[in-house]
Formats: sequence, structure tokens, C-alpha cells
Amino acid sequence: MPTPLFELRNLTKIYGGGLLGRQASAALDNFSLTFYEEEPKITTIAGESGSGKSTLANLALDFIHPTEGQIVYKGKDLGKMSRTERFNFRREVQAIFQDPFGTYNPFYKVDAVFDTVIGKFKLAHSKQEALKLTWAALEVVGLRPNEILGKYPHQLSGGQRQRIMVARAFLLKPRLIVADEPVSMVDASLQVRILDIFRDLKENYGISFLYITHDLSTAYQISDDIYVLYSGSVMENGNVDDVIQDPHHPYTQLLVSSIPVPDPDIRWEGRTTSSASELTVKAANNGCKFYQRCPHAMDRCTVSPPPAYPVGPSQFAACYLYADTQAAVVAIDRSPVGHVAS
Ligand code: SF4
Repeated sequence: MPTPLFELRNLTKIYGGGLLGRQASAALDNFSLTFYEEEPKITTIAGESGSGKSTLANLALDFIHPTEGQIVYKGKDLGKMSRTERFNFRREVQAIFQDPFGTYNPFYKVDAVFDTVIGKFKLAHSKQEALKLTWAALEVVGLRPNEILGKYPHQLSGGQRQRIMVARAFLLKPRLIVADEPVSMVDASLQVRILDIFRDLKENYGISFLYITHDLSTAYQISDDIYVLYSGSVMENGNVDDVIQDPHHPYTQLLVSSIPVPDPDIRWEGRTTSSASELTVKAANNGCKFYQRCPHAMDRCTVSPPPAYPVGPSQFAACYLYADTQAAVVAIDRSPVGHVAS
């Protein structure tokens, strides 16, 4: 039985409500996911603006707290950790963000990024040892240290700056990296390079990734499994090949149909017409959140939210279209690798 490393248990995050009278809305609704010690993986959280994916990233990084649910790292609830346990969590769960430039101080050479982290986490006993660690981390991400160290952030390309952020995270020997839209600001060729580095870190260093993106094509390129979020709820999840090649939920089908294809004979239908405001539109009652945009909507879809139905060996869709084929799964942890949390 594999050992849970990082567990997101039935997380709900609600904003608004309370005494100020603002309408309460769930940015994330009953989300569960587990990473295991022995099985490093890259899990994608996919969705468009307003889907709740960044809320999930912030919860996983302990930047915000869940309204309901639990986040557990190495068997310990994040809210009940000792000082030492929290220090270790901060070291072992790292973040990479969309805009690397915002992370740098323009007045300091990029060396400071490494010096700061080495000092804070006491990773080296001497300057020489610190330099050796920095040098090795830069080489792991395919950068030549002598071309990088001593430079100011503005003297480097966007791709180099983002790779430095990966090297900084690597320096800490993390078990999990939360990467929130990490390649959306670099050009396509560098996207491939950076995603290849993620895969290398998973395969050769046992580092798992929570990869947050709106881009299904990059998700398909590197993920092991995927969760498709819509308005805070999981619409479909499973092995990434199954979900992208054979999507079952009408929302996933819509997203997949909008992926650009390289074949000039096949017309790209364009991106979905979704907007942030559309994405927050809910059914007029407590039913399926996708009701108002769904081409298959039925009366029963307005009654209660659909549970997750198994639609393949490692694939689930929260849609009543699959209700009559198989028994519903109570979604505590719909892990595609079949580990159902008790
Ligand atoms: Fe469409 Fe109903 Fe399925 Fe929701 S539950 S996606 S409204 S068919």
C-alpha cells in the first residue's frame, strides 16, 4: 500500500457571505487529490479563468486556508504542524509561478535568488559549498552557470529566468512542486524545454508536480493524470491520455475540440467562447454547474449536482449522461491510479 505524501481532502473554499452581506460563492467545491511517496507523478489541474485552479494552488501552498476540508502533508494536518514540521513543509513543497520576473529584485544579480534560499534553509556551510549547489542546480535545468551567475534579471531571457526559478526550487530537494501556469509567458519552443525539465525532475529525482494550466495541449504533453475544473467543481478526471483522447464530460469535449491541431487540412474551431462571467454562471438551482451551456442538458440535471460516474478503468465524469450505465462513486478521492482514500 503506497504511503500518502500530500493529501487534499474534500477541500472547499468559499468567498463572500457573512455579516457584510456579500453573496457567498464556492471558488472550489469538495476537491480531493492524493500524491504518494513512492509514485511521483505530474497531475494537471486544467480549467479556464474562474474555474478555481488558482484557488487550489494557493490552498496547496498554504497561502490561504480551506473553508472546509483538510490538507495533510506526510500524515500531518497543515493547521496542526509544529514549527519544525512547517519548516520542512515550506522546504519540500515549492512553487513556480507564471511571471518569473516578478520574483526577482531588479537591483540584485540573479545569484541572490540562490544565496537567499541557501541561507534561509541553511543548505550550505560555506560559500564554496553554496556555489557548488547553485552550479549543480543550474546544470540540472540545462543552464550554463558561467553564463547566468553575475547577471541581472533584465539581462536574461524569459525562458532563462523561468528555468532559474526551477533551479531554485530544485535546490531545496522538494517532494512536490506546485507550478501555476509556469510556461504561459514563454514562447512555444521554450515551453517544450521547460516541460521536459519537469518530466526529468519527476523521473530522475522523484519530484511530483501539481501543474496548473488552461492549456490542454501542454497538459497532454507532460501529465500522468488530469482534473478538469469548471466553476470550482471537477467535471472529469483520469489518466490524461484517456481524458484527452476520449473525453466524456460535455465540458471536456468542448475544451478538447478547441485545441489547435497542426494539420492545415483540419480547421481549428477556435477557443471555447467561455468568459470568466460565463464560467461562474450556475444552474438556476442546485444542479449541474454546466447546465446552462450543456448541449445535452436534461430535467434531472437541475435537481442536484451530478456525482462522479466511472466512465473507464481510470476515468470519471460528473455527468448524468453516465448515470444509468454504472454505479456512482462517492467522490472522496477519485485518483486515477485507483487509490481511494478511506
Ligand atoms: Fe450536461 Fe446534465 Fe451532464 Fe451537466 S449533468 S454536463 S447538464 S448532461
